[in-house]
Amino acid sequence: MPVTSPPRAWAEIDLGAIRHNLNVVKQAAKGEYYMPVVKAAAYGHGLEQVCRTLDSEGIAFFGVANVGEARRISQAGCRTRPYILGPAFPEEREEIVLNGWRSFISTIEEAVHYNSLARLYGKTLPIHISVDTGMGRGGFLPDQLEELLSRLGELDSLYMEGLGAHLPCADEDREITLRQIARFEQMAARIREKLPLKYCHLANSAASLDYEIPSNNMCRPGLVLYGFSPIPSPWAAQLKPAMALFSRLTVARTLPEGHGISYGGTFVTDHPTRVATVGIGYADGYVRSLAHKGARVMVDGVSCPLLGRVTMDQIMVDVSRVPHPEPGMTVEIMGPNIPVTELAEKAGTISWEIFTGIGPRVPRHYIH
Ligand SMILES: *Cc1c(COP(=O)(O)O)cnc(C)c1O
Repeated sequence: MPVTSPPRAWAEIDLGAIRHNLNVVKQAAKGEYYMPVVKAAAYGHGLEQVCRTLDSEGIAFFGVANVGEARRISQAGCRTRPYILGPAFPEEREEIVLNGWRSFISTIEEAVHYNSLARLYGKTLPIHISVDTGMGRGGFLPDQLEELLSRLGELDSLYMEGLGAHLPCADEDREITLRQIARFEQMAARIREKLPLKYCHLANSAASLDYEIPSNNMCRPGLVLYGFSPIPSPWAAQLKPAMALFSRLTVARTLPEGHGISYGGTFVTDHPTRVATVGIGYADGYVRSLAHKGARVMVDGVSCPLLGRVTMDQIMVDVSRVPHPEPGMTVEIMGPNIPVTELAEKAGTISWEIFTGIGPRVPRHYIH
Protein backbone atom coordinates (compact mmCIF):
# COMPACT_ATOMS: atom_id res chain seq x y z
CA MET A 1 0.00 0.00 0.00
CA PRO A 2 1.32 3.47 -0.83
CA VAL A 3 1.81 5.60 2.25
CA THR A 4 0.07 8.62 0.78
CA SER A 5 -3.59 9.06 -0.09
CA PRO A 6 -4.60 10.30 -3.54
CA PRO A 7 -3.77 14.01 -3.51
CA ARG A 8 -6.56 16.40 -2.64
CA ALA A 9 -4.79 19.14 -4.57
CA TRP A 10 -2.24 19.11 -7.35
CA ALA A 11 -0.54 21.47 -9.77
CA GLU A 12 -0.12 20.99 -13.50
CA ILE A 13 2.97 22.64 -14.91
CA ASP A 14 3.53 23.24 -18.59
CA LEU A 15 7.29 23.29 -19.09
CA GLY A 16 6.88 24.26 -22.74
CA ALA A 17 5.15 27.45 -21.56
CA ILE A 18 8.20 28.37 -19.48
CA ARG A 19 10.47 27.86 -22.50
CA HIS A 20 8.08 29.96 -24.58
CA ASN A 21 8.04 32.74 -21.96
CA LEU A 22 11.83 32.89 -21.93
CA ASN A 23 11.70 33.47 -25.67
CA VAL A 24 9.12 36.23 -25.23
CA VAL A 25 11.47 37.97 -22.76
CA LYS A 26 14.33 37.56 -25.21
CA GLN A 27 12.33 39.27 -27.96
CA ALA A 28 11.17 42.02 -25.63
CA ALA A 29 14.51 42.80 -24.00
CA LYS A 30 16.84 42.10 -26.93
CA GLY A 31 19.59 41.51 -24.40
CA GLU A 32 22.81 39.65 -24.94
CA TYR A 33 22.64 37.34 -21.91
CA TYR A 34 19.92 35.89 -19.69
CA MET A 35 19.82 34.61 -16.13
CA PRO A 36 16.47 32.87 -15.59
CA VAL A 37 15.59 33.27 -11.91
CA VAL A 38 14.70 29.86 -10.46
CA LYS A 39 14.99 30.55 -6.74
CA ALA A 40 12.42 29.09 -4.32
CA ALA A 41 11.82 25.95 -6.38
CA ALA A 42 11.45 28.04 -9.54
CA TYR A 43 8.66 30.06 -7.91
CA GLY A 44 7.00 26.80 -6.87
CA HIS A 45 7.16 25.27 -10.35
CA GLY A 46 9.95 22.79 -9.50
CA LEU A 47 13.66 23.63 -9.52
CA GLU A 48 15.10 20.59 -11.31
CA GLN A 49 12.34 20.35 -13.90
CA VAL A 50 12.49 24.04 -14.82
CA CYS A 51 16.30 24.06 -14.93
CA ARG A 52 16.44 20.98 -17.17
CA THR A 53 13.90 22.68 -19.44
CA LEU A 54 15.92 25.88 -19.77
CA ASP A 55 19.46 24.47 -19.56
CA SER A 56 19.99 24.35 -23.30
CA GLU A 57 18.09 27.53 -24.15
CA GLY A 58 21.20 29.66 -24.52
CA ILE A 59 21.33 31.15 -21.06
CA ALA A 60 24.25 32.40 -18.98
CA PHE A 61 23.31 31.48 -15.38
CA PHE A 62 20.48 30.23 -13.21
CA GLY A 63 19.58 32.72 -10.47
CA VAL A 64 19.16 30.90 -7.14
CA ALA A 65 18.71 31.97 -3.53
CA ASN A 66 21.36 29.88 -1.82
CA VAL A 67 24.02 27.20 -1.98
CA GLY A 68 21.51 24.39 -1.43
CA GLU A 69 19.66 25.34 -4.60
CA ALA A 70 22.95 25.61 -6.48
CA ARG A 71 23.84 22.05 -5.41
CA ARG A 72 20.52 20.71 -6.60
CA ILE A 73 21.00 22.29 -10.03
CA SER A 74 24.39 20.69 -10.52
CA GLN A 75 23.11 17.36 -9.19
CA ALA A 76 20.28 17.57 -11.74
CA GLY A 77 22.96 17.43 -14.42
CA CYS A 78 22.57 21.00 -15.69
CA ARG A 79 25.53 22.61 -17.43
CA THR A 80 24.45 26.18 -16.73
CA ARG A 81 26.15 27.59 -13.64
CA PRO A 82 24.08 28.80 -10.70
CA TYR A 83 24.41 32.45 -9.63
CA ILE A 84 23.59 32.91 -5.96
CA LEU A 85 21.43 36.01 -5.64
CA GLY A 86 21.89 36.44 -1.89
CA PRO A 87 25.10 36.79 0.13
CA ALA A 88 26.77 33.50 1.07
CA PHE A 89 27.80 32.77 4.66
CA PRO A 90 31.58 32.56 5.15
CA GLU A 91 31.45 28.77 5.66
CA GLU A 92 29.63 28.35 2.30
CA ARG A 93 32.22 30.17 0.22
CA GLU A 94 34.67 27.31 -0.14
CA GLU A 95 32.06 25.23 -1.96
CA ILE A 96 31.29 28.18 -4.24
CA VAL A 97 34.97 28.61 -5.10
CA LEU A 98 35.54 24.90 -5.71
CA ASN A 99 32.52 24.58 -8.00
CA GLY A 100 32.98 27.85 -9.86
CA TRP A 101 29.45 28.93 -8.93
CA ARG A 102 28.83 32.63 -9.24
CA SER A 103 28.47 34.86 -6.25
CA PHE A 104 28.79 38.57 -5.65
CA ILE A 105 30.54 40.85 -3.22
CA SER A 106 28.96 43.67 -1.23
CA THR A 107 31.89 44.45 1.05
CA ILE A 108 35.69 44.49 0.99
CA GLU A 109 35.68 41.77 3.70
CA GLU A 110 33.83 39.40 1.39
CA ALA A 111 36.17 40.20 -1.47
CA VAL A 112 39.25 39.55 0.70
CA HIS A 113 37.83 36.23 1.92
CA TYR A 114 36.89 34.99 -1.56
CA ASN A 115 40.30 36.07 -2.81
CA SER A 116 42.14 34.10 -0.12
CA LEU A 117 40.02 30.98 -0.76
CA ALA A 118 40.63 31.23 -4.50
CA ARG A 119 44.37 31.65 -3.91
CA LEU A 120 44.38 28.66 -1.52
CA TYR A 121 42.96 26.45 -4.26
CA GLY A 122 45.06 27.97 -7.01
CA LYS A 123 42.05 29.32 -8.84
CA THR A 124 40.99 32.58 -10.39
CA LEU A 125 37.43 33.03 -9.19
CA PRO A 126 34.96 34.85 -11.43
CA ILE A 127 32.84 37.05 -9.20
CA HIS A 128 30.37 39.91 -9.55
CA ILE A 129 30.40 43.30 -7.89
CA SER A 130 27.04 44.20 -6.40
CA VAL A 131 26.11 47.85 -6.09
CA ASP A 132 23.23 49.35 -4.14
CA THR A 133 21.26 51.84 -6.23
CA GLY A 134 18.49 52.00 -3.62
CA MET A 135 17.30 48.49 -2.83
CA GLY A 136 19.11 48.48 0.51
CA ARG A 137 19.61 44.71 0.50
CA GLY A 138 23.28 44.46 -0.42
CA GLY A 139 25.97 45.91 -2.62
CA PHE A 140 28.58 48.64 -2.50
CA LEU A 141 27.28 52.18 -2.10
CA PRO A 142 28.53 54.70 -4.69
CA ASP A 143 31.06 56.21 -2.27
CA GLN A 144 32.47 52.79 -1.36
CA LEU A 145 33.40 51.90 -4.93
CA GLU A 146 36.70 53.78 -4.92
CA GLU A 147 38.05 51.73 -2.05
CA LEU A 148 37.21 48.51 -3.87
CA LEU A 149 38.79 49.76 -7.09
CA SER A 150 41.91 50.88 -5.26
CA ARG A 151 42.35 47.44 -3.72
CA LEU A 152 41.98 45.41 -6.89
CA GLY A 153 45.74 44.80 -6.92
CA GLU A 154 45.62 42.70 -3.77
CA LEU A 155 42.52 40.83 -5.03
CA ASP A 156 44.47 39.18 -7.79
CA SER A 157 42.80 35.77 -7.45
CA LEU A 158 39.41 37.32 -8.27
CA TYR A 159 38.23 38.02 -11.80
CA MET A 160 35.59 40.75 -11.68
CA GLU A 161 33.29 39.20 -14.22
CA GLY A 162 30.19 41.27 -13.73
CA LEU A 163 28.29 44.07 -12.07
CA GLY A 164 24.79 43.76 -10.70
CA ALA A 165 22.15 45.67 -8.77
CA HIS A 166 18.46 45.18 -8.06
CA LEU A 167 15.57 47.58 -8.71
CA PRO A 168 13.02 47.87 -5.89
CA CYS A 169 10.33 49.80 -7.80
CA ALA A 170 10.49 48.72 -11.46
CA ASP A 171 6.85 47.64 -11.31
CA GLU A 172 5.68 50.54 -9.14
CA ASP A 173 7.44 53.84 -9.65
CA ARG A 174 8.92 55.07 -12.92
CA GLU A 175 10.63 58.17 -11.55
CA ILE A 176 12.50 56.34 -8.80
CA THR A 177 13.43 53.58 -11.23
CA LEU A 178 14.82 56.03 -13.79
CA ARG A 179 16.93 57.69 -11.08
CA GLN A 180 18.29 54.32 -10.01
CA ILE A 181 19.08 53.34 -13.58
CA ALA A 182 21.04 56.59 -13.93
CA ARG A 183 22.97 55.78 -10.74
CA PHE A 184 23.71 52.29 -12.07
CA GLU A 185 24.96 53.71 -15.36
CA GLN A 186 27.32 56.06 -13.52
CA MET A 187 28.74 53.26 -11.40
CA ALA A 188 29.06 50.94 -14.40
CA ALA A 189 30.96 53.62 -16.31
CA ARG A 190 33.32 54.24 -13.39
CA ILE A 191 34.06 50.52 -12.95
CA ARG A 192 34.49 50.00 -16.68
CA GLU A 193 37.37 52.48 -16.66
CA LYS A 194 39.28 49.86 -14.67
CA LEU A 195 37.63 46.53 -15.45
CA PRO A 196 36.18 45.03 -18.63
CA LEU A 197 33.01 43.54 -16.97
CA LYS A 198 31.54 40.86 -19.20
CA TYR A 199 28.09 40.95 -17.59
CA CYS A 200 26.12 43.98 -16.43
CA HIS A 201 22.78 43.11 -14.91
CA LEU A 202 20.03 45.21 -13.38
CA ALA A 203 16.81 44.15 -15.12
CA ASN A 204 14.25 41.96 -13.36
CA SER A 205 11.00 41.01 -15.16
CA ALA A 206 9.44 44.47 -15.09
CA ALA A 207 12.61 46.21 -16.24
CA SER A 208 13.25 43.59 -18.94
CA LEU A 209 9.87 44.39 -20.51
CA ASP A 210 9.66 48.10 -19.87
CA TYR A 211 12.98 49.95 -19.48
CA GLU A 212 15.97 50.91 -21.58
CA ILE A 213 19.10 50.35 -19.52
CA PRO A 214 22.08 51.09 -21.78
CA SER A 215 24.72 49.13 -19.87
CA ASN A 216 22.44 46.21 -18.98
CA ASN A 217 23.48 43.25 -21.14
CA MET A 218 22.00 40.50 -18.96
CA CYS A 219 18.38 40.25 -17.81
CA ARG A 220 17.29 38.35 -14.71
CA PRO A 221 13.67 37.48 -15.44
CA GLY A 222 11.66 35.68 -12.77
CA LEU A 223 7.89 36.12 -12.75
CA VAL A 224 7.55 36.53 -16.53
CA LEU A 225 9.04 33.07 -17.07
CA TYR A 226 6.08 31.63 -15.22
CA GLY A 227 3.65 33.51 -17.44
CA PHE A 228 2.78 36.82 -15.80
CA SER A 229 3.97 40.35 -16.36
CA PRO A 230 4.31 42.47 -13.22
CA ILE A 231 3.37 45.56 -15.26
CA PRO A 232 0.92 46.35 -18.05
CA SER A 233 2.90 45.61 -21.20
CA PRO A 234 2.20 44.85 -24.85
CA TRP A 235 4.23 41.67 -24.31
CA ALA A 236 1.93 40.43 -21.54
CA ALA A 237 -0.57 38.96 -24.01
CA GLN A 238 2.11 36.68 -25.43
CA LEU A 239 3.00 35.10 -22.09
CA LYS A 240 1.59 31.67 -21.24
CA PRO A 241 0.78 30.89 -17.59
CA ALA A 242 2.73 27.73 -16.77
CA MET A 243 0.91 26.53 -13.67
CA ALA A 244 -2.66 25.50 -12.95
CA LEU A 245 -3.79 24.38 -9.50
CA PHE A 246 -6.61 21.92 -9.01
CA SER A 247 -8.40 20.20 -6.18
CA ARG A 248 -11.36 17.89 -5.76
CA LEU A 249 -14.78 18.27 -4.37
CA THR A 250 -15.05 15.91 -1.40
CA VAL A 251 -18.69 16.28 -0.33
CA ALA A 252 -21.72 18.40 -1.30
CA ARG A 253 -24.65 19.03 1.03
CA THR A 254 -27.55 21.42 1.37
CA LEU A 255 -27.31 23.54 4.50
CA PRO A 256 -30.40 25.26 5.90
CA GLU A 257 -30.80 29.01 6.28
CA GLY A 258 -28.96 30.38 9.32
CA HIS A 259 -26.18 27.75 9.29
CA GLY A 260 -22.63 28.85 10.10
CA ILE A 261 -19.76 27.89 7.82
CA SER A 262 -16.17 27.38 8.97
CA TYR A 263 -14.18 28.64 11.96
CA GLY A 264 -15.43 31.68 13.76
CA GLY A 265 -18.85 31.39 12.13
CA THR A 266 -17.97 34.42 10.03
CA PHE A 267 -20.32 33.29 7.26
CA VAL A 268 -23.93 32.29 7.92
CA THR A 269 -26.27 31.11 5.17
CA ASP A 270 -29.19 33.45 4.53
CA HIS A 271 -31.07 30.86 2.49
CA PRO A 272 -30.82 27.07 2.05
CA THR A 273 -27.52 26.67 0.21
CA ARG A 274 -25.81 23.86 -1.66
CA VAL A 275 -22.35 23.83 -0.06
CA ALA A 276 -19.41 21.74 -1.24
CA THR A 277 -16.23 20.98 0.63
CA VAL A 278 -13.01 21.09 -1.42
CA GLY A 279 -9.73 19.42 -0.50
CA ILE A 280 -7.37 22.37 -0.36
CA GLY A 281 -6.48 24.71 2.47
CA TYR A 282 -3.89 27.10 3.73
CA ALA A 283 -1.41 24.26 4.33
CA ASP A 284 -1.38 23.87 0.54
CA GLY A 285 -0.96 27.59 -0.08
CA TYR A 286 -4.60 28.63 -0.41
CA VAL A 287 -4.09 31.54 1.93
CA ARG A 288 -6.43 32.44 4.79
CA SER A 289 -6.58 36.06 3.71
CA LEU A 290 -8.74 35.01 0.72
CA ALA A 291 -11.77 34.68 3.01
CA HIS A 292 -14.50 37.30 2.59
CA LYS A 293 -12.74 38.96 -0.35
CA GLY A 294 -14.86 37.61 -3.18
CA ALA A 295 -12.56 34.66 -3.93
CA ARG A 296 -13.98 31.86 -6.06
CA VAL A 297 -13.19 28.49 -7.57
CA MET A 298 -14.49 26.91 -10.80
CA VAL A 299 -16.54 23.72 -10.72
CA ASP A 300 -17.84 22.30 -13.98
CA GLY A 301 -17.47 25.68 -15.70
CA VAL A 302 -19.35 27.52 -12.94
CA SER A 303 -17.79 30.17 -10.73
CA CYS A 304 -18.41 29.19 -7.08
CA PRO A 305 -17.83 31.69 -4.25
CA LEU A 306 -15.66 30.76 -1.27
CA LEU A 307 -17.74 30.67 1.93
CA GLY A 308 -16.27 31.48 5.34
CA ARG A 309 -12.71 31.03 6.46
CA VAL A 310 -10.06 28.89 4.79
CA THR A 311 -9.13 25.92 6.99
CA MET A 312 -5.84 24.05 7.01
CA ASP A 313 -6.86 21.35 4.53
CA GLN A 314 -10.33 22.26 3.28
CA ILE A 315 -12.51 25.08 2.03
CA MET A 316 -16.24 25.38 1.52
CA VAL A 317 -17.77 26.85 -1.62
CA ASP A 318 -21.27 27.64 -2.83
CA VAL A 319 -22.15 25.15 -5.58
CA SER A 320 -25.83 26.13 -5.87
CA ARG A 321 -25.36 26.91 -9.57
CA VAL A 322 -23.48 23.69 -10.40
CA PRO A 323 -25.96 21.24 -12.01
CA HIS A 324 -24.65 18.03 -10.42
CA PRO A 325 -21.99 18.60 -7.75
CA GLU A 326 -20.49 15.17 -6.99
CA PRO A 327 -17.63 14.05 -4.75
CA GLY A 328 -14.47 13.65 -6.82
CA MET A 329 -15.23 16.43 -9.29
CA THR A 330 -12.21 18.48 -10.32
CA VAL A 331 -12.12 22.03 -9.01
CA GLU A 332 -10.01 24.77 -10.60
CA ILE A 333 -8.36 26.78 -7.84
CA MET A 334 -6.03 28.71 -10.15
CA GLY A 335 -5.68 28.33 -13.89
CA PRO A 336 -7.27 29.37 -17.18
CA ASN A 337 -10.23 31.05 -15.44
CA ILE A 338 -8.61 32.22 -12.22
CA PRO A 339 -5.18 33.81 -12.79
CA VAL A 340 -2.65 34.00 -9.98
CA THR A 341 -3.01 37.78 -10.18
CA GLU A 342 -6.67 37.48 -9.13
CA LEU A 343 -5.82 35.34 -6.12
CA ALA A 344 -2.99 37.68 -5.15
CA GLU A 345 -5.14 40.77 -5.43
CA LYS A 346 -8.00 39.29 -3.40
CA ALA A 347 -5.58 38.01 -0.76
CA GLY A 348 -3.89 41.41 -0.52
CA THR A 349 -0.53 40.07 -1.64
CA ILE A 350 1.56 39.58 -4.79
CA SER A 351 1.69 36.77 -7.37
CA TRP A 352 5.23 35.87 -6.26
CA GLU A 353 3.98 35.04 -2.75
CA ILE A 354 1.04 32.95 -4.01
CA PHE A 355 3.32 30.89 -6.29
CA THR A 356 6.01 30.30 -3.68
CA GLY A 357 3.43 29.51 -1.00
CA ILE A 358 2.07 26.46 -2.82
CA GLY A 359 3.18 23.82 -0.38
CA PRO A 360 5.15 20.59 -0.67
CA ARG A 361 1.96 18.56 -0.07
CA VAL A 362 0.79 19.58 -3.55
CA PRO A 363 2.28 17.21 -6.13
CA ARG A 364 3.44 18.79 -9.36
CA HIS A 365 2.50 17.06 -12.60
CA TYR A 366 4.54 18.04 -15.65
CA ILE A 367 3.53 18.54 -19.22
CA HIS A 368 6.62 18.49 -21.43
C1 LIG B 1 14.02 37.48 -7.48
C2 LIG B 1 14.97 38.34 -8.19
C3 LIG B 1 14.79 38.62 -9.55
C4 LIG B 1 13.56 38.24 -10.34
O1 LIG B 1 12.52 39.14 -10.06
P1 LIG B 1 11.15 39.11 -10.90
O2 LIG B 1 10.46 40.36 -10.48
O3 LIG B 1 10.41 37.88 -10.48
O4 LIG B 1 11.53 39.10 -12.32
C5 LIG B 1 15.80 39.31 -10.21
N1 LIG B 1 16.89 39.74 -9.54
C6 LIG B 1 17.09 39.50 -8.24
C7 LIG B 1 18.32 39.99 -7.58
C8 LIG B 1 16.14 38.81 -7.51
O5 LIG B 1 16.33 38.60 -6.20
